[in-house]
Amino acid sequence: MRKQIVAGNWKMNMTLTEGLQLADSIVSLLGHKEELKAEVILCAPYIHLAHLAEAIKGSKVLCGAQNCASEISGAYTGEVSAEMIKSTGSTYVIIGHSERRTLFGEDNAVLFRKTRLAIEAGLKVIFCCGEILPEREAGNHFEVVEKQLKEGLFDLNEPEFASIVIAYEPVWAIGTGLTASPDQAQEMHNHIRSLVRKHYNHIVSDALTILYGGSCKPSNAAEIFANPDVDGGLIGGASLKTEDFCAIVESI
Ligand code: PEP
Repeated sequence: MRKQIVAGNWKMNMTLTEGLQLADSIVSLLGHKEELKAEVILCAPYIHLAHLAEAIKGSKVLCGAQNCASEISGAYTGEVSAEMIKSTGSTYVIIGHSERRTLFGEDNAVLFRKTRLAIEAGLKVIFCCGEILPEREAGNHFEVVEKQLKEGLFDLNEPEFASIVIAYEPVWAIGTGLTASPDQAQEMHNHIRSLVRKHYNHIVSDALTILYGGSCKPSNAAEIFANPDVDGGLIGGASLKTEDFCAIVESI
């Protein structure tokens, strides 16, 4: 059975103290549960990571970053490399979130470079894809996601691809309160899995964890996660509240 994951994306929220309090309360509710079906990941701002890694040590909760640099090291003031993230004790990094694509102009070529560097540094990558509303309304959503995956991921070789988790996040559902219907989510996840099967093979596609993201909350998570190709969620707003986040994790 492939891995199920619920990952929280804190975005640019939480001071260090607030972040550690949030992590503590999540760990005390979930961190030692033997019956937990999903891997739980907290993707926090860079400044939290080393502290967070210490705070979650010994629990079943993991941590990750929300971005990394597209270069290995050197004169890139303000950037944080994949290797630095790994050195904090983090396990994952989110790459290609729609906010990075839109607000910071990251294109598929840059995202591919980041992804490869992250894997080389020993990180696992949560690679985000998803269409904007006009693209869905025009019926182009399958092609849009296909292009994002082909250009952002499919030059990885098979061993490298084993470090990938894909998050399908329709941009029109992120932070808007609108959610893809369970059928829309299943249809796209199935499309993604078949693209991976065609490009690699069925062993790779069967093992691939595909997360849904976009206004996921305790009231809709179970219905979305019940689909055969939905292996968990990437959670934004609801990951900032212990009860909501833990309820989403428990709904797997
Ligand atoms: C996200 O930003 O990855 C996300 C899914 O946000 P939200 O859950 O708030 O829509």
